[in-house]
Amino acid sequence: MHQLYACTNCGFWQRYFAPGPPSCPVCLDYRHPLPPNGWTFATEAEVGGRLRMQWAEVLPGIWQFWNEPQLGIGPRGYLIVDAEHGNVAFEGAGYYSAEALDFIRDLGGIRYLSASHCHVFGALWQLVEAFEPEVVMQQDELPFCQAFRVNWPYEDRAELHPGAVLHHTGRHTPGHAVLHLPPRQLLCCGDALKFKLDADGQATHISTHRAYDAHIPLSHADVRHYQAVLEPLEFDGVLTPWEPVPAGGKAAARQLFAAQLAGRPFADILPLTTSSHAPDLTHGSNSVVPESLAAGAGV
Ligand SMILES: [Zn+2]
Ligand SMILES: [Zn+2]
Repeated sequence: MHQLYACTNCGFWQRYFAPGPPSCPVCLDYRHPLPPNGWTFATEAEVGGRLRMQWAEVLPGIWQFWNEPQLGIGPRGYLIVDAEHGNVAFEGAGYYSAEALDFIRDLGGIRYLSASHCHVFGALWQLVEAFEPEVVMQQDELPFCQAFRVNWPYEDRAELHPGAVLHHTGRHTPGHAVLHLPPRQLLCCGDALKFKLDADGQATHISTHRAYDAHIPLSHADVRHYQAVLEPLEFDGVLTPWEPVPAGGKAAARQLFAAQLAGRPFADILPLTTSSHAPDLTHGSNSVVPESLAAGAGV
């Protein structure tokens, strides 16, 4: 009899036969480090007994869910509450407790479910089983969707409702996508952008990469493609699979892309030049030197 197993190295869930799968497809990818001493896979009962679930309203009507200690790379899942159009869940926490699922149910459940890419799926399968939402995934991520059913594959764009639109970016992974929330001027950016925050939650640095841990930059063509997809989208705040950045996200992304295209590709973090994150054209934001990548979550 098959059941679900979580890779304790990265947190990716697979359906397989006992005693568990022979390997993890996310860990085998060039972006992720292999587990130093081989794989261990945990069942739902083992994971549920080990992790505590936390959640918080990080912006009005937007809830973030995470585990302590984290499972694998520890992505955080979002629930965007919309009483008119139905709630949208984007990205997944490693494991959802019964209390968390009850809380989501009290907020109106989930009508649409999606994620940017397979590194941050977390336990989407639990949300599919509990709420039977429309599961909307870019078609190139389908090989990683074996743990749950997808009933709305898309290519370049999928409009869940007028306030929630998915856009394919590719590049970080072939099927990587972002979720744009036009009325809220927010972008759920997946691993297209990563921020470093200060103690007050203000973004101080930004980065982008093919692989975060392996420190592989995007090519110039990759960066120009991100620019082409993101520039037409109106947003100010950004939600990564780890950190909410309430404001200044688009200006920061512009600084980053300009710096990336001004010289050789880099995966280091770029200090943002002003506290408001507006591009400082008079002093030349492109002259800022990226710093070494800090330790942290990500793939
Ligand atoms: Zn793995
Ligand atoms: Zn990733």
